[in-house]
Amino acid sequence: MDNKCKVIAVTNQKGGVGKTTTTLNLGVCLAQNGYKVLLVDADPQASLTVSMGIKRPDELDTTLADVMQTIVDVGDFKSLDVGIIKNLEGVDLMPSNIDLAGLEVRLMTAFCREYTMKSWLGAVKRKYEYDYVLIDCMPSLNVLTVNALAAANSVIIPCQASYLSTKGLQQLMGSVAKVRRNINPGLKIDGILLTMVDNRTNNAKSIISSLREIGGLRVLDTEIPFSVRAAECSVEGKSIFAHDGKGKVAAAYTALVEEVMELEKERDRPGTERGI
Ligand code: ATP
Ligand code: MG
Repeated sequence: MDNKCKVIAVTNQKGGVGKTTTTLNLGVCLAQNGYKVLLVDADPQASLTVSMGIKRPDELDTTLADVMQTIVDVGDFKSLDVGIIKNLEGVDLMPSNIDLAGLEVRLMTAFCREYTMKSWLGAVKRKYEYDYVLIDCMPSLNVLTVNALAAANSVIIPCQASYLSTKGLQQLMGSVAKVRRNINPGLKIDGILLTMVDNRTNNAKSIISSLREIGGLRVLDTEIPFSVRAAECSVEGKSIFAHDGKGKVAAAYTALVEEVMELEKERDRPGTERGI
């Protein structure tokens, strides 16, 4: 049952590159395709929680910080659905708020600190039979992000093409390699996702070729175009599908779902090993 569920961490330590937007829209689109989806907000900024229409995350009784703290303290898996907000645009959400910043500090000294999120998720996905869990990481390579990478089957790395940081990407690849060596040998990289692409100003080809120089990283075929309609979504507290379902960004996220599914199929075929 466990194998059936795919956990994808959406990560890049650079801020404002479209991680949260990608997590939300990929999740909603997967749900529209009939999959059972859980989104996990692993950022104390709580942008994903707010983007899903929860205006005051600090007033929530239970968030990711509380369930992870319970696991650190007592390893208690009894009340697993505590904190999960059900069925927002067809997806479930484990929200976050500023308490996660405190947990991050406490995790530093916890036993098996890298595995806390994995323990919680392992039990949740078994009980609720999620098909996909998407984790929205914070813009930092800290212990919470390592927890997400430890719990994940693969990572998607959103990058804003016009502000591409080769050095930042190399650091991220270094961390993924470390996690793979020490914690999660099966971790795959689905690829880099170019976001907020403005074809009028970007020379997409030269950006992609400079990316490929970094250790043969795959750049996903799907590109997410820049659109003011997408920027409006976080304020509206809705996905692009609810806000501008017929627009180019919704179409791009639909294409991303197809590409990610195709990658999975390729991996499952015997004798093939795409991805680093
Ligand atoms: P952080 O590192 O702070 O968590 P992030 O990587 O999660 O940021 P987002 O919050 O998804 O990035 O996006 C940053 C900003 O860009 C937001 O205001 C969002 O609305 C906007 N944005 C995201 N995607 C697009 C797009 N395709 N076109 C235009 N604006 C976009
Ligand atoms: Mg974010």
